[in-house]
Amino acid sequence: MTQAVLEVRGIVKHFQTRGGAIARAVNGVSFDLAKGETLGLIGESGCGKSTLARVLARLDTPDTGEVLLDGNDIGRIGNRAMKPIRRRIQMIFQDAVSSLNPRATAGAAVAEPLKLHRVVPRNKVKDRVAELFEAVGLPVGLMSRYPHEMSGGQCQRLSIARAISLDPDIIIADEAVSALDVSIKAQVINLLMDVQTRLGLSYVFITHDMALVGVLSHRIAVMYLGRFVEVGDADAIIRRPMHPYSQALIAASPIPDPDRPRTQALPIKGELPSPIKPPSGCTFHPRCPLAQARCKSEVPELRTTGEARQVACHFA
Ligand code: SF4
Repeated sequence: MTQAVLEVRGIVKHFQTRGGAIARAVNGVSFDLAKGETLGLIGESGCGKSTLARVLARLDTPDTGEVLLDGNDIGRIGNRAMKPIRRRIQMIFQDAVSSLNPRATAGAAVAEPLKLHRVVPRNKVKDRVAELFEAVGLPVGLMSRYPHEMSGGQCQRLSIARAISLDPDIIIADEAVSALDVSIKAQVINLLMDVQTRLGLSYVFITHDMALVGVLSHRIAVMYLGRFVEVGDADAIIRRPMHPYSQALIAASPIPDPDRPRTQALPIKGELPSPIKPPSGCTFHPRCPLAQARCKSEVPELRTTGEARQVACHFA
């Protein structure tokens, strides 16, 4: 197996709500990310994907667990020591326009990280910005525009230019194309895949779109109420999901593959429960069409099945 660029071990992240209750956003997530790999992270809104993303990018620290980059736990490193490491893990957000400084021109937005991290000498910054504009398919004539004068697709390209300007190893893309129109979305996806091939980047690609994650990812992790319930090869999961939740997600997705066997899955009932009061045992049991008595009391471990697949279900 290719050596992992990132090793994530037992991440737990809980929050105190304004009312004093504890929201269990992430509850013991572990995985490895290999160089050049895309791990697609899928699940409903509120399942803990974005909290996990912020922990991976060290925008938040975990309560317990480790995020190891080259063997160093970045969750425990102080802010000063973090500066050279921070450039190696970059994040792209869904709302590109509001993630950019409205008072900075597009050129200044890309120049800022180059200057802050002294990636190139000051007199070379302008040339490097122009190269990065070209690399993400933005006309250099847009350098003097402000974010509000650009389209959503152009702003997302600008975010990608900022992210790759620091020559990172890993990009965490949190619903990065969800807000874009279909044709622009396809262009930005192609750009992300092209950049990955050219620069050997690893991605954690977070989305609630199963069709998209199947196209982009080498492996998929399906997340439910703060835990991974199924992890494995993307193609294998799309063709033969094993966890009842993955089966329902895939059966409900319009995945454009005529060769894909039709997934028979009973529809899931109700809404995602609150992470403040998660159900006992298997947290999916109130919605699971296959639940049995044991599911209410016993937490299913994420265990490895035959084909390098991990599934957290007593009966998978
Ligand atoms: Fe459903 Fe039980 Fe499996 Fe959970 S452990 S997914 S409730 S069958």
